[in-house]
Amino acid sequence: MTSPQTARHEGAAALRTVRAQWGELLLAIETPPAEPWPPRQLSHLLRPAAGDEPLVERAPLVLREHPAPANLDALDAGLHAERALFDLADTLAAAVQRAPLDDPRRWTFRSLSDPGSRAHGLHWAAVWVEGRLLDEDTEPEQQLDGTLTAAPFLPLPEHLLHEAHRVARAVEGRVLRALGLDARTVPVPERPCPWCKGELTLHTDPDEAPRVTCSTGPSCTAPVPYDELGRRVWEWHALPALVIALDAAQQPTERARAA
Ligand SMILES: [Zn+2]
Repeated sequence: MTSPQTARHEGAAALRTVRAQWGELLLAIETPPAEPWPPRQLSHLLRPAAGDEPLVERAPLVLREHPAPANLDALDAGLHAERALFDLADTLAAAVQRAPLDDPRRWTFRSLSDPGSRAHGLHWAAVWVEGRLLDEDTEPEQQLDGTLTAAPFLPLPEHLLHEAHRVARAVEGRVLRALGLDARTVPVPERPCPWCKGELTLHTDPDEAPRVTCSTGPSCTAPVPYDELGRRVWEWHALPALVIALDAAQQPTERARAA
């Protein structure tokens, strides 16, 4: 059983990851499913210079039209994330919200005619749930005239703390999987090592920078260090150079194919 302290800490971290990756997920919905190469973590380096970046909309997916999503996995993950976090916020608000109606910290429930706080999108829901996980605003508050008013929120009871932790982790896992950022090891397709023609493998993990290894072992002449298994390894800082080397190695074949 996870301790309350761990549930609090892990749940909040999962919500921050979801918020950090949300823009990527929205972009992914509009883009055909990504090839394993190049790794998505490099996309900021490889995309056109800032200024050309599409504006990421914050409106909830459920309220937006997406007439032709290019990546249904990403859309499903996004809709699941919104639904799960919106429903979780409803549950937590029903249990611990005491703030007066005019308090902007309130989570407002949807009605038939009004989406309530859901209209502010996943970001706000994630921030709001994180506040409850961390028991923010659970002390009586002093007003300007010196009077004390009741705390806007009650501390989260333990069973809801565990529920919030479970939902946050599930949403995080789903979003990371849809983006190919979960822990996985995949061969780099159709791109052998430019130095020895060995097979390259991409290793990704949500908590670590991606790296690439060459299957050949010590005899590979690539200008990078060995890992603990004696394989040439391109760590994070060496990856942009590898992307360029692989593209350069590939271009003659593509030209031949086009001819
Ligand atoms: Zn090699």
